[in-house]
Amino acid sequence: MKVLGLIFIAFAIILTIIMIKFNIVYSVTIDNKQVGYIKSQKNFENEIKNKIIEVAGNNIEFVSLNVNPTYEIKLLDKSQKTNEDEVILELQNNTSYIYKFYEVGLDNETKEFVDTLEEAENVVNDIKNQYGKDLELNIEILERFTENKDEVKTDSIEIAQNNLENQVKKLVEENSMPNVNGIKLAQLPVRGTITSRYGVSSRIRSSNHTGLDIACKAGTDIKVVSKGKVVFAQNKGSYGNLVKVDHGNGVETWYAHCSKIYTTVGKQVNAGDIIAAVGSTGNSTGPHLHLEIRINGNPVNPQKYLYK
Ligand SMILES: [Zn+2]
Repeated sequence: MKVLGLIFIAFAIILTIIMIKFNIVYSVTIDNKQVGYIKSQKNFENEIKNKIIEVAGNNIEFVSLNVNPTYEIKLLDKSQKTNEDEVILELQNNTSYIYKFYEVGLDNETKEFVDTLEEAENVVNDIKNQYGKDLELNIEILERFTENKDEVKTDSIEIAQNNLENQVKKLVEENSMPNVNGIKLAQLPVRGTITSRYGVSSRIRSSNHTGLDIACKAGTDIKVVSKGKVVFAQNKGSYGNLVKVDHGNGVETWYAHCSKIYTTVGKQVNAGDIIAAVGSTGNSTGPHLHLEIRINGNPVNPQKYLYK
């Protein structure tokens, strides 16, 4: 009995010394690498759940730890602290995330990204309500997934809506612009008063009028109606100073009686570019623009398209 008692006391003393000098902790190993110490396995597993697995928001669709940590009971000198935060960080570096977001696409061209399906639907419904009646909109919502967080550059619903709306407005505008043989006319050459229509006969001309006369102040800028290439830019008899622009598809526009020509043959021009100034050169009785639209060389009535 006495011996047993002594053994017990000795054991108790050793245990006390251990308890004074050491803490009982868990050593954590990830992928064969000892990464740190934690106080409680249960608390730590909760922390993994809260800080890694159930991370709220940020478009995270799916989280998986690449490797599961293993735990081993250890005595840790009391001078050494446990380092849960560093272990969590190490685990985060060994975690795969799949991010989910939504793409709203218009005409396979414009793409806007938002965080949720609800936001995507709001954007689409709003655009369709506003513009869907007048315009057939090729608009769709697609689910997108990525492992690369940097790819998830979503916009707020307001910005997405705004960007799409601007694109839709452009489509509406394009749709309402006149079209000559597939060439969109985007610009009136001048603003003025129509003084002679297409097709009328006049005592100062030998044939019917092949263009439209628009009277305005001498020197007024003449703008190209659509993108194209200048194919003629000089004086031509009764036309006076004449500029011809080829727009493709056999469509040409002619600008006659100019006081000045600001362009040269071969120059690429865009709708709205100023190519000449209104004048009264050639067979003309006062400053005006004689505008012709020609398809495969044949004049057509400009008022079918412009100055309606
Ligand atoms: Zn004329």
